[in-house]
Amino acid sequence: MDLNTVTQIVRPAGREEIPAWRDGDAYLAGGSWLFSEPQDRLTRLIDLSTLGWEPLRVSDAGLEIAATCTIAQLDGLAAPPAWTAAPLIGQCCRAFLASFKIWNVSTVGGNLCMSLPAGPMISLTTALDGELVIWTAGGGERRVPVLNFVTGNNRNDLRPGEIVRAIHLSRAALTRRTAFRQISLQNVGRSAALIIGTRDANGAFVLTVTASTPRPYQFRFDALPSAGDLTARIDATIDGTWFDDIHGLPAWRRAMTLHFAREIVAELGGGAP
Ligand SMILES: Cc1cc2nc3c(=O)[nH]c(=O)nc-3n(C[C@H](O)[C@H](O)[C@H](O)COP(=O)(O)OP(=O)(O)OC[C@H]3O[C@@H](n4cnc5c(N)ncnc54)[C@H](O)[C@@H]3O)c2cc1C
Repeated sequence: MDLNTVTQIVRPAGREEIPAWRDGDAYLAGGSWLFSEPQDRLTRLIDLSTLGWEPLRVSDAGLEIAATCTIAQLDGLAAPPAWTAAPLIGQCCRAFLASFKIWNVSTVGGNLCMSLPAGPMISLTTALDGELVIWTAGGGERRVPVLNFVTGNNRNDLRPGEIVRAIHLSRAALTRRTAFRQISLQNVGRSAALIIGTRDANGAFVLTVTASTPRPYQFRFDALPSAGDLTARIDATIDGTWFDDIHGLPAWRRAMTLHFAREIVAELGGGAP
């Protein structure tokens, strides 16, 4: 839709060209949310796509995903064979309620900054212990784990004028075994529960709960827990704060989360790579 209150679009070619933040500004990434509903308080858009960031950088340290990397570009990554966690990337990209257009314009950084419970890039990067690089307003930089970045439904740790620059996934996280479960109320609806388990070579197990809660939760164990211990810990921690909206009732989201958690423990308890 047209954003009739916007009178200026800035297209910086480098960080030094990014204007000082003022009321009425918004950073423009893929625009799939910004242009999907009225934005009456906005007067200026600052386009991040012109900064020319390389979408994906594979190195011995792991993977750096530029905030402006699109879902389609991420899905197209040719991951090194040693990255056993790589199938999780495609599974999360497909967990989007997304048309062809959204898939091709919407960005990983935009998905994180929207901070919706059903943000599949939040699920992916939290489960793989991702760390965000944030450009601060004064020209500096800070880092924050994705787990701590998203603080609630459409709420996060971003301060006015800050830009998410990139997300780092370590090689250690990318070489874990993974198990993925997702469900939506309708066939192609928004995720109502998206649960990911990972297990490293030493047997340490991490369960990440997303979509069924307003923000991500993580449960860490040195060894695979029993299904009973795991579900008791989930219930005690989440304790009545299951997400409630048109895409699923809290009781159903809780039931699916506990069911998937049990399945994931069983799957990662097997010997398959
Ligand atoms: C039909 C439809 C289906 C959708 N389905 C889903 C879904 O299943 N799950 C889901 O989570 N979302 C969904 N969305 C919402 C949205 O499209 C996605 O969250 C998308 O990933 C946003 O990315 P974008 O690059 O298009 O962000 P934009 O629309 O460009 O920006 C979104 C917000 O993030 C800010 N922003 C973007 N990038 C940065 C950055 N690097 N630093 C600081 N701020 C930034 C913008 O200023 C804006 O406030 C859907 C939207 C539509 C219209």
